[in-house]
Amino acid sequence: MHCPHRTSAAIRVFAAAAAVVTACACAASCAEDASESAPDRPAGQAKRAKSEQSGQPVAEKPDEPEGERGWSPPTFTERQDDRDRMVRAIRDRYGLTDEQVLKAMASVPRHELVPDAVARRAYEDSPLPIGYGQTISQPYMVAEMTRRLDLGAGDRVLEVGTGSGYQAAVLAHFTREVRTIEIVRPLAEAARKRLDRLGYDCVEVRHGDGYHGGPDGGPFDAIIVTCAAGQIPPPLLKQLKPGGRMVIPVGGRFSVQRLMLVAKDEAGEVTSRSLMAVRFVPLLRQDPTRD
Ligand code: SAH
Repeated sequence: MHCPHRTSAAIRVFAAAAAVVTACACAASCAEDASESAPDRPAGQAKRAKSEQSGQPVAEKPDEPEGERGWSPPTFTERQDDRDRMVRAIRDRYGLTDEQVLKAMASVPRHELVPDAVARRAYEDSPLPIGYGQTISQPYMVAEMTRRLDLGAGDRVLEVGTGSGYQAAVLAHFTREVRTIEIVRPLAEAARKRLDRLGYDCVEVRHGDGYHGGPDGGPFDAIIVTCAAGQIPPPLLKQLKPGGRMVIPVGGRFSVQRLMLVAKDEAGEVTSRSLMAVRFVPLLRQDPTRD
């Protein structure tokens, strides 16, 4: 089958299996392949805070010493019912049953990461505007992309497209080694402040063009790109470790985009396959807020 996502001779592209059209990530609709599922993981280790405080978000660091993962993400109680409802929707509507992913989604206070104007709608299963023409992805898409990264504690992960910082916070529930890069300076700065305030201080936020990969050049066990590229950026492929995984939407602004799962095997050979049709905001090459 011919596939437009072949990026080099070294890349074998497997056929796509798309199905149901559903509201997705990003800016609009996607066709979903829910036929495949990864094995569930053991439940995550995040602990819920016991009491809810008013006013400021409840961020509690557990009292006990750091566990063997060396990092305990903060916990929040405010709007827990809303988060639980969102997680049930992800599980029931899409059949996503990975317990560790669902636990992370039930933990991160999405309402604290989106602009105040849309905070009320934070737990709807839809994308939301975050300013500068950008959007925070639909929760299901965040969950699915996270699941595909198959993260283990201590994995080094790079996100291209920090946006609100929500996806980065979700990643921090798997590993403390999270780097994220955002091309729109005010978004990068706001996300950095927000993540620090909430206790996700292990996440390193940089301003810059993520086309070139991480600021320190990698290599990474996993890379997640949350904006659509015309092709898989070669620097990202280079920064993927042998045995590493990347999820990335590929396609033009006005054409069908496919969410690709890219894998580099231990011998360095890269394969990719299409997971579903999606619509994401485009990968930019210049900060639109630059003077
Ligand atoms: N992951 C985000 C969603 C971001 S939307 C979240 O959880 O909120 C995609 C983001 O990618 C936008 O913020 C956009 O500004 C950013 N972006 C676009 N091109 C980029 C590039 N070349 N490098 C880094 N970020 C980029």
